[in-house]
Amino acid sequence: MTAIDLIDRRQFYIDGAWAPPAEQNDAHVIDPSTEQACAVISLGSQADTDAAVAAARAAFDSWSRTPAAERVALLVKLLEVYERRSGEMAEAISMEMGAPIDLALQSQVSAGSWHIRNTIAALEAFDFDRPLSDGAPGDRILYEAVGVCAMITPWNWPMNQVTLKVAPALGVGCTMVLKPSEVAPLSSSLFAEMVDEAGFPAGVFNLVNGDGAGVGSQLSAHPDVDMVSFTGSNRAGVAITHNAAESVKRVALELGGKGANIVFADADDSAVERGVRHCFNNSGQSCNAPTRMLVERSVYDAAVATAERVSNEMTVDLASKNGRHIGPVVSQAQFDKIQGLIETGQREGARLVAGGPGRPDGLDVGYFVRPTVFADVSPEMTISRTEIFGPVLSITPFDTEDEAIAMANDTSFGLTNYVQTADIDRARRVAKRLRSGMVEMNGKSRSAGSPFGGYRQSGNGREGGTWGLEEFLEVKAVSGWA
Ligand code: NAD
Repeated sequence: MTAIDLIDRRQFYIDGAWAPPAEQNDAHVIDPSTEQACAVISLGSQADTDAAVAAARAAFDSWSRTPAAERVALLVKLLEVYERRSGEMAEAISMEMGAPIDLALQSQVSAGSWHIRNTIAALEAFDFDRPLSDGAPGDRILYEAVGVCAMITPWNWPMNQVTLKVAPALGVGCTMVLKPSEVAPLSSSLFAEMVDEAGFPAGVFNLVNGDGAGVGSQLSAHPDVDMVSFTGSNRAGVAITHNAAESVKRVALELGGKGANIVFADADDSAVERGVRHCFNNSGQSCNAPTRMLVERSVYDAAVATAERVSNEMTVDLASKNGRHIGPVVSQAQFDKIQGLIETGQREGARLVAGGPGRPDGLDVGYFVRPTVFADVSPEMTISRTEIFGPVLSITPFDTEDEAIAMANDTSFGLTNYVQTADIDRARRVAKRLRSGMVEMNGKSRSAGSPFGGYRQSGNGREGGTWGLEEFLEVKAVSGWA
């Protein structure tokens, strides 16, 4: 492919218009199915960051004072545009990060519309101006936009992450600069076109592409940015927190996970298969993936056999093909990391029951990983402790409820844990003892308006619903109101 064939996304969206970077600094976007460049973007510089922050700062005063109903009306317009252009969005996501096209449309893109829609519902129910209590009629509580927000997002669920931040921030009256992952920036450029088409005032939403060391660090340290909302790795989350400390910004972090899926002997018949499929969904590249399956010993052998069958039946193929196969992982760096961890699992004595190192048969090009299952994984093994971010499942037996809870909690993370049992009293008891921001039981996913976020090193933020609005709000106490 020559440079002429590349999709050109070199411009940034600043102050309501598309603009070239201050200095040319091209970077290629790699299609993970082919390992070929598919697009070119610019990596921004301090001048681009400053221009975007200045535009957001200038727009803040008037935007933060618009009636909430006006902001909601623009979000409704954005949702219409997003849904109308969902096919384009699915193609962009599929190409930039390798989600098979049907998954891209049905899960990746639809997660975005779901979040915009749920944000609208939460805003319609939110009271920005309320009395403190019946006993204090002169005290008023006002919820006000936190200010200029920097949003730094990852590549794995690009529109899920972007809409979870941008929609509530727009809705409560913040202005913002989005810096999407430089690995998967195409969907965000398309999203900026949609924001433009929806008719938000100039400067309210700005987009600058760049890497973490450049635009990411510049935004985190910027004195005119009031808040950083970050989703990504723990390494970057720590760097951003350090960087933001000097200017005492609010920092909301959504980081990694190593979810346990506790399968008791009385779990429903499809619990194990469901868990394996969930772990491998999006090629295992989900922060809330149930990657540690803990199985009660009396059903352990049967669970391992099921996981082996499901994994061997799973097909791996190009992202551009229709179907329910899994696609490649996102990059050479992720491919190498995952291969290294699979080899570490073997070296540390875990029992390989499906998959293993190397590419699947017939796929010699592309970052394709074999769906891999390890059994007899002990809690201290590297593969049980590290977020692999690939299609790799660990299975570990347990004997008692207490032991299962202790193993589930024996991690530095605390994002999502899962429980499978027919005994509702036990399910509730276990849910209360799991140290994580979310617990999903018996295959029931969380409803609209539910908060997403973690304990411990999974972060400190909560996105979605009312909690997702409050993340972008200051609370002002006013006395003498009446
Ligand atoms: P990453 O941390 O490498 O990159 C994420 C973003 O941060 C990118 O935009 C990147 O350019 C930027 N960045 C990197 N270093 C930075 C720095 N020093 N300062 C400022 N910005 C910086 O993560 P990734 O590889 O894109 O994404 C995978 C990670 O994201 C996984 O750990 C996954 O668990 C996590 N994740 C968490 C959630 C959640 O909600 N908890 C959701 C999705 C992904």
